[in-house]
Amino acid sequence: MKKLIYLDYASTTPVDKQVLKDMKNYFTIKGIFGNPSSYLHSFGINAKNAIENARVNISDIIGSKKEEIIFTSSATESINLAIKGIAFNYINYKNKNIITSLIEHKAVLETCNFVKKLGIKIIYIKNSCIGKINLNILKKKITNKTILVSIMHINNEIGTINDINQIGCICKKKNIFFHVDATQSVGKYLFNLKNMNIDLLSFSAHKFYGPKGVGVLYIKDNKKKINLLPLIHGGEQENGLRSGTLAVHQIIGMSTALRIANSIMEKEKKRITLLKQKLWNGIKNISGVYLNGSFKNSSPYIINIGFKNIFNKILILEMKNIAISTSSACNSNKYYLSYVLKSLGLNPKLIQSSIRISFGKFTTEKEIDYTVKKLNLIVKKIKKNYL
Ligand SMILES: *Cc1c(COP(=O)(O)O)cnc(C)c1O
Repeated sequence: MKKLIYLDYASTTPVDKQVLKDMKNYFTIKGIFGNPSSYLHSFGINAKNAIENARVNISDIIGSKKEEIIFTSSATESINLAIKGIAFNYINYKNKNIITSLIEHKAVLETCNFVKKLGIKIIYIKNSCIGKINLNILKKKITNKTILVSIMHINNEIGTINDINQIGCICKKKNIFFHVDATQSVGKYLFNLKNMNIDLLSFSAHKFYGPKGVGVLYIKDNKKKINLLPLIHGGEQENGLRSGTLAVHQIIGMSTALRIANSIMEKEKKRITLLKQKLWNGIKNISGVYLNGSFKNSSPYIINIGFKNIFNKILILEMKNIAISTSSACNSNKYYLSYVLKSLGLNPKLIQSSIRISFGKFTTEKEIDYTVKKLNLIVKKIKKNYL
């Protein structure tokens, strides 16, 4: 098998063919290219209608009202809007705090680092050795000084699943806003937000076969009004929460992508669960292999494993035509060693021996068989040549 094999779906996914086809109608003079805010002519009205249809489709799938959806450029932007949007209300207050975890995506951690400079305290809830948030600690840390709890649903490095229903209940009881980074779960897990105690939820199209550069922030509309301050000011689009001409083609792409993802969700989950099991069965007897996180309480789409005494970057280079990743895409010294794996109690050596494999729609059984064979071979080869 000479072909390239992609096993890095947690970092991004290819755009679905049908998604691209739908998007293509929104670019040229022959298509629907108008500005959705230009309501005085049909070019604008057609674009606006397309946007609103997409909004209805997306909200139907996640079980929200259409008014509860704000289109953004990415999950990162949605997360920034959720956290800063709340925090900016409290700049002149003393002793306010935001509660989050140590293993959030950098979009959450760095936004929290930023609002910390504005005087808001950040409280980090410890996780267990499989990467789950301890609910008892969370309960104890929430006080009347807490303005927001932000916890991710599925961790992007190890796949561990947090119980967002229970966390939502805890937050609701204490009357605290709850934000969820659901970027690894929307399109893969069923959401029915009207029945969940989630006030804010972020996700991004490019993790479910939509285009890059478009995301959603869900903002619950109920009696307990959430006062979000916008980050981007201008033409007052999206209820004034996110100005800027809407990216019609991107939003259409996201809508189609979510519809497709939702229609094959359960079937895919079963199929991928078997593939993950197959991969693990094929490598679990390699000497020195270890699993990070938990096999049971994790997303079937992600597995994080290590091979004692084998440097992950060497392993990945040797895997050549198979695209896998070290557990974190490291782009600065600060994130050189995965903080997620560190929080599980791994020492630096084990962290640097860990890799993340993530599966998706185009992953086949053949590819997994090949990957298993190659991993066995390469680990043997590295042990012989380097140790
Ligand atoms: C990919 C990812 C993000 C960032 O999404 P972008 O749309 O690329 O900004 C945030 N959180 C999690 C858990 C992710 O996996």
